[in-house]
Amino acid sequence: MATTTKYIFVTGGVTSSLGKGIIAASLAKLLQAQGYRTTIQKLDPYINVDPGTLNPYEHGECYVTDDGAETDLDLGHYERFLNVPTSQANNVTTGRIYQSVIEKERRGEFLGKTVQVIPHITDEIKHRIQILGKSGDYDIVITEIGGTVGDIESLPYVESVRQLKWELGQDNALVIHLTLVPYLSAAGELKTKPTQHSVKTLMESGVQADILVCRTEHELPQDLRDKLARFCNVTRDSVIQSIDASTIYDVPNLMLTEGLDKIVLKKLALKSETPDLTRWNAFVERHKNPKTEVTIGLIGKYVELQDSYKSILEAFIHAGAENEVKVNIESIHSEYLNADNIKLKLSHLDGVLVAPGFGERGIEGKIDAVRYVRENNIPFLGICLGMQMAVIEFSRNVLGLKDANSTEMNESTTNPVIDLMEEQKTVTDKGGTMRLGTWTCDLSENSIVRNVYNAKTIGERHRHRYEFNSDFKAQIEEKGMVATGLNPDTKLVEIVEIPSHPWFVGVQYHPEYKSTVANPHPLFVAFVKAALVHKETKKDVSMAQNK
Ligand code: GLN
Repeated sequence: MATTTKYIFVTGGVTSSLGKGIIAASLAKLLQAQGYRTTIQKLDPYINVDPGTLNPYEHGECYVTDDGAETDLDLGHYERFLNVPTSQANNVTTGRIYQSVIEKERRGEFLGKTVQVIPHITDEIKHRIQILGKSGDYDIVITEIGGTVGDIESLPYVESVRQLKWELGQDNALVIHLTLVPYLSAAGELKTKPTQHSVKTLMESGVQADILVCRTEHELPQDLRDKLARFCNVTRDSVIQSIDASTIYDVPNLMLTEGLDKIVLKKLALKSETPDLTRWNAFVERHKNPKTEVTIGLIGKYVELQDSYKSILEAFIHAGAENEVKVNIESIHSEYLNADNIKLKLSHLDGVLVAPGFGERGIEGKIDAVRYVRENNIPFLGICLGMQMAVIEFSRNVLGLKDANSTEMNESTTNPVIDLMEEQKTVTDKGGTMRLGTWTCDLSENSIVRNVYNAKTIGERHRHRYEFNSDFKAQIEEKGMVATGLNPDTKLVEIVEIPSHPWFVGVQYHPEYKSTVANPHPLFVAFVKAALVHKETKKDVSMAQNK
């Protein structure tokens, strides 16, 4: 354990999408596995106060923490790797920084001074960087600076790093610069020039990178590492190669082989030992050596973008490893699903997940999909909007309430089986006003979920405005869809199941946010198991038919 909190800053150069989040999470894993209490923070240079109002096409999934913060999807990686919850303090945007500085100015807290980027904005950034460190909960705080050095919008962050590095003093802070070493196939060569330039750009702001992590498609030979060290003012052991990996879960071991943890700890004057990655490696081993496979349909409207359902895809990887099966995900665009093609698109699947979402686009396809899997006994998991679609489908096709809908899609429906909560009706602001964060839920006896969670009460994270309308609960239950999870205080329905179906579960919350390598989410584990059972049953039936 360290006596003072140490700070590691991760900056990015040359291009975006180099995987700063994964490098930060992998390093954190290696430090955690040596006994250091480590957390990771992401600073995002955009002006939105949080990513909650961003379209998934812009910035991928919005990740929700226990305390109800709507955050960048990198926080999902941090939690999945470290198995330690993050919070609002782990994600700060330029919008939030300016918002608090402007609020202070309005309250007169700057005593008549001219409010400026330096020192007021940079002070606020430095304060936000140190909140986690000062909490006393962490030995090491890794701060990932979003964007690429040289961007106008990143400048106040880089300036704050410059100041903080100076203030914290030697051995207490360091900068890891993640860059790209491209391979020019025409020349057959790896090129160091972009890295030299990006290190130079960082230096123009007064920040010297201490360690270079170089993304590359090919092994970096020693002479190239020497060249990078020489041109970029770093020691030779500080040039770390980050070669493309087949899975992000390989990156901690790749960084271990490269000695990233060792050089970091040396520069921070901390002891290093061999990290204990036993459990991690057992997971990777299971993930890479599945005994069989299942195919699950992911029905949503952002399916062409991997990042939009990041946590769901990762939760399937964890659940697959737990079951020792490979989970093939077939992404199905709900806008192109209809009663005519539904059989063609879904009949071969071993399970179907209907994804979360907002707005009307693509919902009729989702409803058709729920009907198909309900009538054909295909395991089903509905998440948030997916659960709401299951309730609508059941109301329309089993209860015969033909115009049953959510008031999100049709305000004037006579059967609003999904409706706005009373306290949402007066809300006009879109940002941070949904039902967010962890809420407790009581599970009914003899239900799938009670068995799956093996608990009477659970806490799961929410992000929605609309709810199951309890006025319809009795009618819906009478026809065979039962509410098996209720909020203990408000009695809001959080989970529905159909007991006559082999495995049909809809949840108003987002289980995917809580799935980690160390704790694969039990609902995903059980869903994958149900898909496996379905696959086996299908095989038995077709064998019997062929006899
Ligand atoms: N749009 C729905 C609501 O606001 C569902 C949200 C979601 O799927 N996260 O209630």
